[in-house]
Amino acid sequence: MNLIELVTQIDSEEKARKFLEKMRWPKGIVCPRCGHPHISRLEAYHKFECAKCEYQFSVTAGTIFHGTRVALRKWLIVVSLMVESKKGISAKQIERTIGVSYPTAWYMMHRVRSAMKTDGNEASLFGILEMDETYVGGKERGIGPGRPGKRSKNTAILGIIERNGRVQCRAVQNVGMREIMDFATSAVRHGAVDVIYTDQMASYRIFDSVYPHKPVNHVVSFVDGDIHTNGIEGFWSLLKRGINGAFHHVSAEHLPRYLDEFMWRFNHRRGSDSLSILLHGCERHHIAYSELAS
Ligand SMILES: [Zn+2]
Repeated sequence: MNLIELVTQIDSEEKARKFLEKMRWPKGIVCPRCGHPHISRLEAYHKFECAKCEYQFSVTAGTIFHGTRVALRKWLIVVSLMVESKKGISAKQIERTIGVSYPTAWYMMHRVRSAMKTDGNEASLFGILEMDETYVGGKERGIGPGRPGKRSKNTAILGIIERNGRVQCRAVQNVGMREIMDFATSAVRHGAVDVIYTDQMASYRIFDSVYPHKPVNHVVSFVDGDIHTNGIEGFWSLLKRGINGAFHHVSAEHLPRYLDEFMWRFNHRRGSDSLSILLHGCERHHIAYSELAS
């Protein structure tokens, strides 16, 4: 569903509530507290009541949309914009597009990112993998043809990608053997790695005794048949265009949330309706403003 279709469907708060209801409970409403499917409607209060535990709840109860003064219509538009925009969208743009203050836009976007957070059990990459490291936040100087330039390293990110598949990445303090092994262990399905391609950084030698590991020699040959890390490098360029373009400054503290957003969008890039997937999962990872405002 594109933005125009969404805006047309939710031209009132009532319709926005109905829309979210369908997305959240495609098979019928269930009690968020006890899971019971027999629910009565308290139409006058825009609420539901569970026949079993008598819990009264609204369509936004327990979701990222709950407990704010922002209209649900605006929330749904923000979700749609974030899900659809390949390179990400800035809080400044959201501020202008939906008519909220900048801090509100920023807060809304972080709540949406919290619903994009990958569960541990989704992070089980397998098959032919590429792993690479990159740095964000530092200043790049003298980049150009034949001039590698100097980069003041800021925050390091490790990433692993399946050939033509899903990606996982994580911000780390440094790219030592321990960080690399910790991250790989959490991201890949043990025993299901056909091969893992990396660059020739010494830390990746830790893989030699654990996975079928092939370092790629970028100096001799940038692409040697199947032996390359083009997939993860493509993801890095997407991430960096987003961070440098839409977000300008991403503090190290908030970087993991932006990574959640870019991973989510990348891993759902082939989904037919990523908006409904996101809204179906919007109950998870509810975060309070106080957790963000520090
Ligand atoms: Zn109940």
